[in-house]
Amino acid sequence: APDSPDCDVLVVGAGPGGYSAAFRAADLGLNTIMVERYPSLGGVCLNVGCIPSKALLHAAKVIDDAAFFADNGIEFGEPKIDLKKLESWKSSVVGKLTGGLVGLAKQRNVETVHGPAQFVDDYHVKVDTADGERSISYRNVIIAAGSRPIAPPGFDLDHPRVMDSTDALKLEEVPKRMLVVGGGIIGLEMASVYHALGSEITVVELADRLMAGADPDIVKPFRKIIDKRYANIFLNTKVTALRPDDDGVSVEFEGGKAPAEDRFDRVLVSVGRRPNTDRLNLEATSLELMDNGCIPADDQMRTRVDHIFAIGDLIGQPMLAHKAVHEGKVAAEVAAGEKSAFDARVIPSVAYTDPEVAWVGVTQEQAKAEGMDVEVGSFPWAANGRSLSLGRDEGITKLIFERDTERVVGAGIVGPNAGDLIAEVGLAIEMGADMHDIGLTIHPHPTISETVGMAAEAAAGTLTDLY
Ligand code: FAD
Repeated sequence: APDSPDCDVLVVGAGPGGYSAAFRAADLGLNTIMVERYPSLGGVCLNVGCIPSKALLHAAKVIDDAAFFADNGIEFGEPKIDLKKLESWKSSVVGKLTGGLVGLAKQRNVETVHGPAQFVDDYHVKVDTADGERSISYRNVIIAAGSRPIAPPGFDLDHPRVMDSTDALKLEEVPKRMLVVGGGIIGLEMASVYHALGSEITVVELADRLMAGADPDIVKPFRKIIDKRYANIFLNTKVTALRPDDDGVSVEFEGGKAPAEDRFDRVLVSVGRRPNTDRLNLEATSLELMDNGCIPADDQMRTRVDHIFAIGDLIGQPMLAHKAVHEGKVAAEVAAGEKSAFDARVIPSVAYTDPEVAWVGVTQEQAKAEGMDVEVGSFPWAANGRSLSLGRDEGITKLIFERDTERVVGAGIVGPNAGDLIAEVGLAIEMGADMHDIGLTIHPHPTISETVGMAAEAAAGTLTDLY
């Protein structure tokens, strides 16, 4: 280790993982420097991920709700969409948060250095800043450089008609016919947005289902709604060629029910993400990567080199902001000498589509595959007053309990705000709550949260009322 390093902790990357790590380290009294290649802090999540996508999904919901009321007593007229204004509103939401991070870093005396960092050895990076190259030495380093979208070989992501999620969030135009390649969370969220803005949507997915990871019965109500809204959803189908030109994209399909060839105005490619480990010159360090390019880290977020920590998207799935944040805090605490470890029992997943699909812990499919003996309690939102008053009744709340202990081990929820509702079950799992704890908890009436209590009561056999 260098005798008098420039800092106790260097954090590489200022996404949710990186800024959480840097702020926690500074709060624990460590002298902290954070390096970020882009001018704006916040990483993918704040700039081109979670936040801008949720702003646009909210706009989509307003349009859909207005359409619902056009048939039910309030006519607003055809929506007139001003993409520039919508884009600038979205950017202002992002700006508030990224600007807030600058203030939070200053308050804590976390120095931020802008420019790409490259490792020189296990104890130094060099950063190419606007004022020239700067070398930074450290006692500990937390690598939080995140991930970026991938495209299958031969897909030209540089062509303006072929978009990744970052391009799609720019809202350059509303294509008449849009193809979404990849039926995962990110692709389906952007499909929700562009459909509401007026695009005709086709989704193509290689696997035999959308949102792999969630139980099929939870995805089904979502599927029923998009079946009505979208032109086509092709499962078990591969895109074998994408040929963009000046006025469209010719696409070739293989398998499933898709035509051999079709044309679209734009294509969104959302087939997965890869870790940014290839852009850090890690060869200069003693680290070794996994086959998928991720850095292996243990539950203290340490790599095989004691003073090098790795967190967030670049250590692998699930690539979620809330996971990165928790890992960042653990890494900082361990670097400060605390005995912290990442021991979350569960990490919730949410698709903020319309309707939302959320799941946490063990799914029914996993329980079956692992031979777990479970009891399932399910409650349909059609019997929940609040859902009906929202004009929505397709939702389902499903809780999964270990039969033996009656403890909750998982949940799947579909319907508006499912993502907010799943948080209660996450807490219940962490606390070791059983079906009676949840069923006997008084939920406020009338809320959709009552469906959580009622699903537990359904499992316990104490469900009496619908309201
Ligand atoms: P990142 O956010 O990727 O941050 C890494 C940072 O490191 C970046 O700012 C990058 O510029 C910087 N960096 C990279 N290399 C270097 C280098 N050499 N030197 C200096 N800096 C470098 N997750 C959710 O939980 N909820 C959601 O709703 C959600 N929605 C999403 C929607 C979209 C469209 C996308 C693309 C992602 C979404 N995600 C969501 C995922 C979420 O954005 C990521 O899981 C999260 O950003 C990961 O945080 P991170 O800190 O690991 O990395």
